Amino acid sequence: MPTPLTPLLLPLGLAIFSGCDAPKTGTPPQFDAARAWKHLETQVAFGPRPAGSQALEKTRVFLMDTLRASGLKPVREHFKSPTPKGELAFANVYADLPAQDPAAEWIILGSHFDTKHAEARFPEPFLGANDAGSSTAVLLELAHALARQGARELNYRFLFLDGEEAVLWDWAGEDNTYGSRHHAAELKKSGMAARVRAFILLDMVGDKDLQLMRDSYSDRRLLDMFFASGRELGYKRHVDGRAQEILDDHLSFMAVGIPSVDLIDLDYGPFNSFWHTPKDTLENCSQASLEVVGRIVLTTLPKVEKEFRRSR
Ligand SMILES: [Zn+2]
Repeated sequence: MPTPLTPLLLPLGLAIFSGCDAPKTGTPPQFDAARAWKHLETQVAFGPRPAGSQALEKTRVFLMDTLRASGLKPVREHFKSPTPKGELAFANVYADLPAQDPAAEWIILGSHFDTKHAEARFPEPFLGANDAGSSTAVLLELAHALARQGARELNYRFLFLDGEEAVLWDWAGEDNTYGSRHHAAELKKSGMAARVRAFILLDMVGDKDLQLMRDSYSDRRLLDMFFASGRELGYKRHVDGRAQEILDDHLSFMAVGIPSVDLIDLDYGPFNSFWHTPKDTLENCSQASLEVVGRIVLTTLPKVEKEFRRSR
């Protein structure tokens, strides 16, 4: 970190960039990819983190500690749900950044933090560096970057979802998206769903060869806004990937009427051979990809705040 220059020694009219950690009102929040990468390493070090596991509880504690250190007040959202393997206890974690005007509408940023139940499939552990360590790491750092800037025009919720992955190997019926379905139902019950302008989901954003896909379910306007920011930032090759219908947590929020987008690259490794396999490791992820996604999101949020309205 460079030593900040003494303002008195600077010629008049010269902008001062101290590089210090103090938040600066009016300056855009900065995404610290090195911090995000550390968050990814920490999660992977806990081992496989399927729903209901001790390792997932350690992850949950880590998420809450990190959010608290960013000045936020994390909440656990406990619930139980029947699964094909019997009833399981789940807990989402979220933290809110209140707007200047508490009556303002909301933007929710989300990522699942559980990993695939893969122990019956592979002798090696499934560490889920990309799925879902990467998006969880980016979301933690986004929460930090936004929280240190203080209140924004809209209320923000940073939402870490449990139980996205199926308990059985195949994604079928209701054996998936447990956390997002629960949270979306609660939003609807409380009436808050009607005040959420957008749900922005991050998933599998750590691939070394990152290209975010055109998920066909995602709100087209939202997706276009994020990809336009990507191009503006010089990340043309990281956006506008192939179109596909992607089943993910965003569908739970769409089901309660919230415009939603999924920022995801489901093509992971040659012929997608790293997805849901023991090859989903740190070596196959990159800090640069976390930075690309973090910067795209931070650049797009003011546009979403200004231009995106719920179409009711
Ligand atoms: Zn997965």
